[in-house]
Amino acid sequence: MKFNEMRYVHLDIESLKEEICKSVNKFKSADTFECADTAFAEYGRLADTVETQTALAYIRHTVNTLDEFYDKEQEFLDENLPVLTEYFQMMSKALLESPFRDEFTKKYGELMFINEEMDLKTFSPEIVGDLQEENKLTTEYEKLLASAQIEFNGKICTVSQLAPYKQDTDDKIRLEAWTAEGRFYKENKEQLDSIFDKLVRLRNKIAKNLGLEDFTQLGYYRMRRNSYTKEDVAKFREAVQKYLVPLADKIYRETAERIGRPYPLNYADSALMFKSGNPKPSGNADDILAAAKNFYRTLSPETAEFIDFMFENELLDVLSKKGKAQGGYCIEIPDYKAEFIFANFNGTSDDVETVTHEAGHAFAGYTARNIFPAALRSPTMESCEIHSMSMEFFAWKAAGEFYGKEADKFKYSHLASAVKFIPYGTMVDHFQHIVYERPELTPEQRDSVWAELTGVYMPWIKLGEIPFYGDGCAWQRQHHIYSSPFYYIDYCFAQTVALEFWAMMQTDWEKAWESYKKLVGFAGTKKFTELVSSSGLDNPFDENTLRSVCETASKWLSEFDKTKLD
Ligand SMILES: [Zn+2]
Repeated sequence: MKFNEMRYVHLDIESLKEEICKSVNKFKSADTFECADTAFAEYGRLADTVETQTALAYIRHTVNTLDEFYDKEQEFLDENLPVLTEYFQMMSKALLESPFRDEFTKKYGELMFINEEMDLKTFSPEIVGDLQEENKLTTEYEKLLASAQIEFNGKICTVSQLAPYKQDTDDKIRLEAWTAEGRFYKENKEQLDSIFDKLVRLRNKIAKNLGLEDFTQLGYYRMRRNSYTKEDVAKFREAVQKYLVPLADKIYRETAERIGRPYPLNYADSALMFKSGNPKPSGNADDILAAAKNFYRTLSPETAEFIDFMFENELLDVLSKKGKAQGGYCIEIPDYKAEFIFANFNGTSDDVETVTHEAGHAFAGYTARNIFPAALRSPTMESCEIHSMSMEFFAWKAAGEFYGKEADKFKYSHLASAVKFIPYGTMVDHFQHIVYERPELTPEQRDSVWAELTGVYMPWIKLGEIPFYGDGCAWQRQHHIYSSPFYYIDYCFAQTVALEFWAMMQTDWEKAWESYKKLVGFAGTKKFTELVSSSGLDNPFDENTLRSVCETASKWLSEFDKTKLD
């Protein structure tokens, strides 16, 4: 069904509450497993309907924020969905207490129960007020950043409008853009510190009220870390320092030489990779969409079916237009067994990333569309990001169509950026571990922690010179640190696995694709570490994994014909 024909129905919250209660009661009073399973399926359909209508409202609201109808619907849902959480939790509890747990485990696996148990540890009715306060503080942060009116080059820019200048090939313009942005953050430093300080104290208090040791533990439960501990993450950090940091440093030293800037680099110079600028797509939006269609059609029968489904049903909205919300996302519409991709094409390589990264998520969702229950359709975040980040590498096959004569430059910069990202991402996570272990740190002490970590994870960076960035405050512009604690390391694990796929592609492309399809096919039925091993990949927590991908990447980068880079 075409997206525009999908029917939006205003949710009747009172009758939903009743229906949920009815299926929960039916589930609880079932005297056979079959009866309980039927009630469980009924409940699943209700949950899918709520998710479908929520997704339709969200998509239509973000596609056109000026549409008054969906604006009101979005407001209605923001207010009423939290009310339903309590009712959905009734089923979670009933499931965990069910006398038929063994039969359910046999049919759907143990993972569903492990995750439900974790979710329950993150919530109790007494903390509702604190959770609302937490939301308020993160919204305050997002609003502060969105409100930025930065004077630059005689124009007034938002943070995202300033972004292209921060990569400008002109050294002076680039430095001025970073300085202008840094000044904005610096002017708002007191507020940024105060919001974060409140968040740390509040999160610590929430964890204590839930009977947990500290917020780190709660953060791990919130992220459903069901297959690794903070000790494993600490081991990963060590391997990053040992293998990734030296390789990334080598890349930066070579870059400094190529772009003619002094090493160590200031933040502004570290943002430029080539004198001629970062690689740009060769065509316009239509060309990119056509290239994407062709790529997925020739990649495999599965991706061909998927991409035809997406286009036939008009499930992509990627052009910027008046009234459209910022950013990009991929969202599931369960009742229609469909995924929707939203983006704002802007003529940079982000456009290609939309049709590789977001479509990687969408392909995984499409592959999992018939899995029941919903909880097993999608794995935890680090595994979801494997779907997308690895697809970016599979799309090297179509680099020529996307980037024309800049295809080689694109490949070099994509691989180099993947390598450079992991130390930064790991540092963001390390910082959060320190901050929540020592909630009593003052804002100044937090900045010193960041500055110290910069020396460990990003030795190519020279502090000083640029306001805010040079003062060791750059962590305050990383949204996740405020809004989604402990999320960031998920990208690093996913990038590591994506690099494993990339390395496999270099020797046996078919094997890499088969293994990827296998991983996507498991959807959310396995934990992260099981997904990786069942797909024939190495565990990122084994230091040999990082050592090996670094060796392959290092060899590829050093053998690259540098005369193609300017
Ligand atoms: Zn993603």
